[in-house]
Amino acid sequence: MNPRTCGDCRECCTVLGIAELKKPPGARCQHLSRALTGAGCSRYPTRPKACQEYLCVWRAGSGDDDTRPDKVGVMLTHADNTSEACRGINNLLPYSYIAHECWAGAVAVPETRDLLIDYASLGVLVLVIKWGWWDELGRVFGPKDVVHAADRWCQDNNHPNLMGILQRADPD
Ligand code: SF4
Ligand code: SF4
Repeated sequence: MNPRTCGDCRECCTVLGIAELKKPPGARCQHLSRALTGAGCSRYPTRPKACQEYLCVWRAGSGDDDTRPDKVGVMLTHADNTSEACRGINNLLPYSYIAHECWAGAVAVPETRDLLIDYASLGVLVLVIKWGWWDELGRVFGPKDVVHAADRWCQDNNHPNLMGILQRADPD
């Protein structure tokens, strides 16, 4: 897969929490230009390491050009780059994505839901996070056996919150 450039997308500058900036997840970064297009980050050469290193799944080369996060309303992050629990699941299931909703309700839009179902049909486990907060998991997309394997991992490794979500999941 060939990495892409972000174009006019700025979603990670709102969705992600950046500890160095004391920016909570879901808050628009103070350094983000108000203009819809153009400069983007006003401190691009000195932006934090977390910003420099972040690569969403779309930018890393997955999906079609028209599934860029600002167009579909979900920003997919490889689970390895997120929480301890998700990293643990990722050791078991190498293709696990965290789907941050860029705006509330984005996952309910049929085209976006279909995109996540397409990933699930390829064997990917997709955990949907509500409005940027990683601990507010919403939906789970993935093959039933993959969801059940993740559930077993949570039981064995004492992650009750994530386990609860997986047990309530109606896998697509
Ligand atoms: S969400 Fe992805 S495509 Fe959009 S600005 Fe961030 S890294 Fe670039
Ligand atoms: S510092 Fe720049 S790159 Fe980092 S979140 Fe803010 S606007 Fe985005």
